[in-house]
Amino acid sequence: MVRISILLGLVPLLASASPVPGDDFDLSPRATFVDCLSGKNVPVVLQSSANFGQLASAYNLRLRPRPIVVTIPATTTHVSDTVKCAKQYRLKVSARGGGHSYSAQGLGGADGSVVIDLQNFHDVKYDSTTTLAEVGGGARLGNIARKLYDQGRRGIPHGTCPAVGMGHPSLGGFGISSRNWGLMVDQIVQVQVVTADGSLKIAKKNYNGDLFWALKGAAPSFGIVTRFWFKTYAVPENIVNYSYRFQPGSVSSAVDSFMKIQEFAKKAPKELGLGVSLWGSGVNFELSGAYYGKSIDDFNRLFKPLLSSLPAPTSSTLDSRGWIDTLLRFAGSGSLSVPETGYNEHTTFYAKSLVTSSRAPIERKGMENFFNYAAREGPNAANQGLPWFVIINLYGGGNSAITNPDLLKESSYGHRDTLWNFQFYTTLNGGLTPQGNTAAINFLTGFDGVVRRSGDFSYVNYADPTYSRWWAQKLYYGKQLTQLSLVKKKWDRDQVFWYPQSIDPAK
Ligand SMILES: Cc1cc2nc3c(=O)[nH]c(=O)nc-3n(C[C@H](O)[C@H](O)[C@H](O)COP(=O)(O)OP(=O)(O)OC[C@H]3O[C@@H](n4cnc5c(N)ncnc54)[C@H](O)[C@@H]3O)c2cc1C
Repeated sequence: MVRISILLGLVPLLASASPVPGDDFDLSPRATFVDCLSGKNVPVVLQSSANFGQLASAYNLRLRPRPIVVTIPATTTHVSDTVKCAKQYRLKVSARGGGHSYSAQGLGGADGSVVIDLQNFHDVKYDSTTTLAEVGGGARLGNIARKLYDQGRRGIPHGTCPAVGMGHPSLGGFGISSRNWGLMVDQIVQVQVVTADGSLKIAKKNYNGDLFWALKGAAPSFGIVTRFWFKTYAVPENIVNYSYRFQPGSVSSAVDSFMKIQEFAKKAPKELGLGVSLWGSGVNFELSGAYYGKSIDDFNRLFKPLLSSLPAPTSSTLDSRGWIDTLLRFAGSGSLSVPETGYNEHTTFYAKSLVTSSRAPIERKGMENFFNYAAREGPNAANQGLPWFVIINLYGGGNSAITNPDLLKESSYGHRDTLWNFQFYTTLNGGLTPQGNTAAINFLTGFDGVVRRSGDFSYVNYADPTYSRWWAQKLYYGKQLTQLSLVKKKWDRDQVFWYPQSIDPAK
C-alpha cells in the first residue's frame, strides 16, 4: 500500500481467462437477450461496437475475459432491467466499478458475462446533518476524497490509488488510516442494491440485515450496489508522515530488524499506520506510514525506542501534513481527481497476498526464509529480471480498529484477527509473454510459499486468479464462508452473480 503507485510505475504482465465451467454460454450476444435489453431502452455496447474493446479491458491487462455485452446504465431501472434480462436468459452478471480488480472480476473474471458498467453512478454528496456521505456505486476513491474534503472537510479511511472504485469497500478496503478508523467496508451504514431478481432494495443493519451483512465484504456475489451511505470523519490536518530506509547488509540483520518491528507492532496504538516494504533485490527495506496522534513530538516518543533498536537508517523523512497532502503522498500523485467517465488506464501485473493472524505472529524462521528468498531470487525475479515489490502492512496489534472480533457480526469481511497483510506484486515490462507470465507466477508463488503456514489466509481485494474456486473462498472468507453460502442460497440461488471465485449457495 505504501507508495503503491510509485512502485506500480516500475513496470507493466497477461494470462488467458479460463472459461466459465459447467455452463452453456456461447460467446456472442444472444439476439433474444439483446432484444430484451433494447425493449427496455438499456444503453448497451455490443462486441461489434467500436468502443467495446476499451470498455471490455480491465486495468490489469494480464487478464482479458470477454464479456457478452457491456451495459452502461444511466438509471437504477437500467441496472434492474439488465439483471432481469440476464436472469431470463440464464447469463451471469458482474458490476464493473473502477475496473481495478487484480483478477478482472469487474469483467466477470471469465468469458461470457454480462457486465454492468457503473461509471454514470459517480455522485458524492456529504450531508452535514447526518454526517453521512452518499456515494454512487461507480465512484472512485480519489474523487470521493476530494469531494468530501471540499464539501465539509470530511474523509473516510480507504486505499491509496485514486482510480480504484467501489469494489474496494465491497470487499474490505484498507488504507493508512484504517488502524485508526477501520476498513472502508466498516464505514458502510446503508446501501441501495439491485438483487438477483432485478429488484431495487435498501439494505441496512435492521432491514434486509442478512443481505447487508453479506454485501459488506462479498458484494460482488450478492448484488449491484448502486448507492452507498458511509460514515465520515472530521479530518485531521496535522498527520505525521514518516519513512526510514535501512540497508541491513545481511539476511540475519534484516530478520533481527523485522522481529523487533513485529514486537513493537503488537502493541502499537491505533493512531499509527505502518508498513514495511522492499523491492528490487536484496534485503534493503523501508519502514513508513502515517501517525494520526497529536504531534511529531508525540510520534518521536512512540517511535524512538523502536528506532534505537534498529540499524541506523540510511535516509529518512519526517513531517506533518494535512489530510489531502497525506493522501497525495501515499498515492504518489499530484492530484486525487480521476475522470469520472471514460477512464482508460492500464498496466499488466500479477500479485498475491498473505494474511497472518495476531494469534500466530511470524516466527524468526519464516522471516529468514522470506529475506533469504528476496536476496536469492529477487535480483533475477525467476530469471526474467521482473520488477517486484512486497508491502507488509500492519492491520492488527494494540487497539487497532480493524481487528475487533465483534465486527464479524457486522460484516462478512473474513479476517478480524489479522496482524500483517503481505502483498507480493510483480509487473511485466513490455506486456505479456508466456515466459514472463510463468516467471511472475512462479516467483511470487515461491515468495508466498516460503512464509505461508497452514492457518494463514489471503485478502479478497488482492484476488489471485491462480487459486481454485474452493481454495479462494476458504482463504478469503475463513469462517464466514458457511454463513455467506446460506445467505447466497436465500438471495441468489441461481448464481446470477457468478465469477470464478464467487460464493456458492449452500446445498
Ligand atoms: C493500483 C491499485 C492500488 C490498490 N491499492 C489498494 C489499497 O491501498 N488497499 C486495498 O485494500 N486495496 C487496494 N487495491 C485493490 C482494490 O481495492 C481492489 O482491486 C478493488 O476490488 C478494485 O475495485 P474496482 O471497483 O476498482 O474494480 P472492479 O474490477 O470494477 O471491481 C472489483 C469487484 O467488485 C465488484 N464491484 C465493483 N463495484 C461494485 C458495486 N457497486 N456493487 C457490487 N459489486 C461491485 C466487481 O463486480 C468486481 O467483482 C488496489 C488496486 C490497484 C490496482
